Amino acid sequence: MSDDDKGGPKGPKGPGYPDPDEIRKTLEGMFGKMGKGGFSFPGMTDSPFSDEVESEEVDEVTVSNDDIFQFDLLPRDIKAHLDRFVIRQDEAKKALAIAVCDHYNHVKVAKAHEGDGERLELQKQNVMVVGPTGVGKTYLVKHIAELIGVPFVKADATKFSETGYVGGDVDDLVRELVTKADGDVSLAEYGIIYIDEIDKLASGGGGMMGRDVSGRGVQTTLLKLMEETEVPVRNAQDMRGQMMAMMDLQNGKQGKDTINTRHILFIVSGAFSGLEKIVRKRSQAAQIGFSADQAEPAMDGELFKQVTSQDYIDFGFEAEFIGRIPVRVVCEHLEAADLEAILKYSEGSLLRQYEREFEAYGIDIKFKDSGIERIAEMAAGEKTGARGLMTVGERILRDFKYELPGTSVSELTVDAELIENREKHLEGYRELGQELVVEKARQEVEAFIREFKDKHGVQIKLADEAMSCLVKMASEQARSVFQVARQHFRDYQFGLKLIQKNTGQAEFLLTEAAVADPDKFLSELVVKSYKDAE
Ligand code: ADP
Repeated sequence: MSDDDKGGPKGPKGPGYPDPDEIRKTLEGMFGKMGKGGFSFPGMTDSPFSDEVESEEVDEVTVSNDDIFQFDLLPRDIKAHLDRFVIRQDEAKKALAIAVCDHYNHVKVAKAHEGDGERLELQKQNVMVVGPTGVGKTYLVKHIAELIGVPFVKADATKFSETGYVGGDVDDLVRELVTKADGDVSLAEYGIIYIDEIDKLASGGGGMMGRDVSGRGVQTTLLKLMEETEVPVRNAQDMRGQMMAMMDLQNGKQGKDTINTRHILFIVSGAFSGLEKIVRKRSQAAQIGFSADQAEPAMDGELFKQVTSQDYIDFGFEAEFIGRIPVRVVCEHLEAADLEAILKYSEGSLLRQYEREFEAYGIDIKFKDSGIERIAEMAAGEKTGARGLMTVGERILRDFKYELPGTSVSELTVDAELIENREKHLEGYRELGQELVVEKARQEVEAFIREFKDKHGVQIKLADEAMSCLVKMASEQARSVFQVARQHFRDYQFGLKLIQKNTGQAEFLLTEAAVADPDKFLSELVVKSYKDAE
């Protein structure tokens, strides 16, 4: 096919030939609007990943591929960065920092040797993080990826299935890295893939798969990615991807069309409940009768030191799979005091988020120590790690966030007393809000009275009940008290001036009756003024 036939950039632009630039722009516009998830034809195998990868946003991938090879962080630099955000988990921070440095240093050396045509043997430092939910496993990995500037993708192992896609969905995970790297395939090749709930892939006792889907099969598929394989950049069933590839070809941009997974770092995690039993049983078998009737300890740092690869195999993993994950760390359970420290000291503290949310309504929210302590205690009761903080915070603040905006309350102080007696405090704020509303209404009524005097030279006054009625009407009509008063007493000056002429009355008090039926009220006054004059 000649260039002209392809209709590429150098193709003819005469009548009958659409301008390739225009086609490109139109298509890009079209696809841009569809979002990065793209689309496929109904009935076709959709990219199973676009919805299922829970892609934690990494702020900006600013480091280009070349910078990876200038990677010069030390484990202590990474740990120091993590310390700013993640509370506790010191062992995990150290182990992850070392694994990540080893990995990228290997990559650096391997890359340097590629130039000489030499291919270095590389034993990848894939990592297994064991620990309960909400203790910072994802948070750690996300911050590491951000620091290094490599794309990061998170997925949930329970979403993988062997059937149907024959591993296609797992490949999409690798492609997702390219999306995260803004299309830079080379950078994607140094990304981090984080797979949670890996324990659910265990066959037999530990896992939950095996019914219709084989966890074992998924382990094998993942194993291939962890070792080294080439994944096509474009999914054959993703129409958007195929069209983009065509456009790139037309524009003479022909980048890599496969992603090599050799340097992608895999971090897997899971709660592994039951693993502690396996370890305990084995260690007990070694020292018969020694601690047979001791209470069962949860997985902690000490017990974790005794975990062997065989324990993972007994749990239901393939030996080859476990063998590919040489670095293993534990993230410990978080106590109430740790949750309190998270609120107080983590740079990602939820309290900063609440401050911003209330600030948007002009409300200055302050958390006293007693309040922070109480929130942490309640969150610990949720047994979902630091995630409990969000559940509890939301529960405590929801009513305040609903009722206070728009009431001219501008400060909210959260302490233990407010948390214990939420309803009472809410009522207090409601009353305060009401007082402020009344004060504002009073000012508006005064402005109306001044305007009436300035325009018509007649002095009026409003009884308190009359003002309450106006406030109520204003709120029902969603208008200001000033507007309602103006409309209500429109043309009142004529009647009042007449009365003034008849009786010489200098000031007029408008009562509740005047608000209820202004015409009737005024005409009665006028009639009376004639009588009085007589
Ligand atoms: P998981 O261990 O289940 O992966 P995450 O890392 O997703 O839990 O934690 C959920 C959220 O809780 C994080 O986004 C973070 O805000 C907070 N969090 C969890 N653990 C910690 C910790 N140790 N220090 C600070 N914040 C934490």
